[in-house]
Amino acid sequence: MTSAADIGLYVHIPFCQRRCHFCAFYLEIAHVDRMASFYAALTHEIRLQDQRNLLQGRMLQSIYFGGGTPTALPPHQLGALLKLIQTTWPISPTVEITVEAHPSSVTREGLTILAEAGFTRISFGAESMKEQDFAPIGRHGQVRDTATAVQAARDAGFININLDLMYGLPEQSLRDWQRTLELILPLAPSHVSCYALTIEKGTRLAQDIARQRVPGVDDQLHLEMEASTAQILAETGFVQYEISNYAKPAWRCRHNLLYWTGGEYLGLGPSAQSYVNGTRFGNVADLDQYVTDLNENRLPMSDCTVLSQSEQNRDALVFGLRLLRGVPLHVLTGAERGTEVDHLIASGFLNVDHERLWLTPLGRRYADSVAERLF
Ligand code: SF4
Repeated sequence: MTSAADIGLYVHIPFCQRRCHFCAFYLEIAHVDRMASFYAALTHEIRLQDQRNLLQGRMLQSIYFGGGTPTALPPHQLGALLKLIQTTWPISPTVEITVEAHPSSVTREGLTILAEAGFTRISFGAESMKEQDFAPIGRHGQVRDTATAVQAARDAGFININLDLMYGLPEQSLRDWQRTLELILPLAPSHVSCYALTIEKGTRLAQDIARQRVPGVDDQLHLEMEASTAQILAETGFVQYEISNYAKPAWRCRHNLLYWTGGEYLGLGPSAQSYVNGTRFGNVADLDQYVTDLNENRLPMSDCTVLSQSEQNRDALVFGLRLLRGVPLHVLTGAERGTEVDHLIASGFLNVDHERLWLTPLGRRYADSVAERLF
């Protein structure tokens, strides 16, 4: 578990140039006027949250600009937002400050502005290194943009660089996926996130599969890709610390670790979620409503739940089990021992010793189902 003093800030920038076919996130297509009203509203949300004094002087350990595609906003605006945050709340001297970026949405000049503004980590959504993988998932850009963007980021001063990749893409073979991993390794990222493609209801990809325009998911192939990922990345010095995340030593993502270790975070922007002082709350997933609320001097909250101690323990268990080191035993309540957890241990999905509980390799394959059974 993290200490109560650890708190992070998440800033949701909801704009993308277009929607990828697999994406079910709340987002807005980037238009200059919409981005301008969002920017003004976000700066006001920062001031209102400061007046609310939720952080009570606690230092921010991590700041994460996610999306959407944060780099849909001009770099000087991202820098100005970071400056406003830095002058509003106390910041840890060792703070990690991440910005997510689409490799095709950055320039050398823009990356230099971001590095000089104080961003310490950049996370590129590379997805694949095979050009033919992009069309079926509606991904814009070209695979060569990734290498160009990584080199430009390094030249701008970023040393902590993540690449987000996706496996199990339509028509992608095991060899294709292995080749993607082999091609990103010479780019020397400090961190790699590898996510299995999931088919979300209502997405264009779900429709294309239903109409047999593209093949559906092959679960067995997913498992082979997952095993191959762990092997290839381990051989090249990456340590898997979470189901989908691999880092070179000392470069684990501190912000995401907050989510998995019961740490607290304040979320800003439309649809952003927060967990502060044992309370979960979320912002409206609607840019118009978000802007209207803030124009009327109201925080744009849509829901708020005070968690009981057993609900906090349950969340710590479900999120913490994503980490390879698992969770300390004290997050298990008496009710959970002797029932579902013991059954999952006996079935080979969970392991336990006198201090911790963690997913076995079999449990990691079925992590979502294990989590569902613990809810
Ligand atoms: S870039 Fe990311 S957030 Fe934007 S549409 Fe694609 S997957 Fe969704």
